[in-house]
Amino acid sequence: MDKETIEHQAYYEQLKAASTVTVDEFLSFLEEKGLDDMPCELCQCKEWAVSSLAGTAPDIVMKNVCGGHDTGFYTPTKRAFFYCFCMGCGNTKEFYADYVLKLMKPESPEAALFDERFEVDRDRA
Ligand SMILES: [Zn+2]
Repeated sequence: MDKETIEHQAYYEQLKAASTVTVDEFLSFLEEKGLDDMPCELCQCKEWAVSSLAGTAPDIVMKNVCGGHDTGFYTPTKRAFFYCFCMGCGNTKEFYADYVLKLMKPESPEAALFDERFEVDRDRA
């Protein structure tokens, strides 16, 4: 497989895995972590929201993240993020989707997909 095909496949697998989380599950996760009691550092509002275009899974953003490798190289890697934002000012908090998924559903096959995805990155480094 060429590099572009591997990347496209990896993005698709991330999105597919992240979309197994529902808005309610993500909100419960954030509440368990204390988000309800956490004021926004900009406007002090305590109301946080999660957007969902599809109405089921939380919206996801894909961003390049520079990750370190054993070799000392830094390679930008496209990763999926879940996010929530302050209802008062829009201040946004983003979380690695794979990290959230592993905390929420550690034994799920979806969490294992992320392991495979990062194996690909390690192989390319
Ligand atoms: Zn705010």
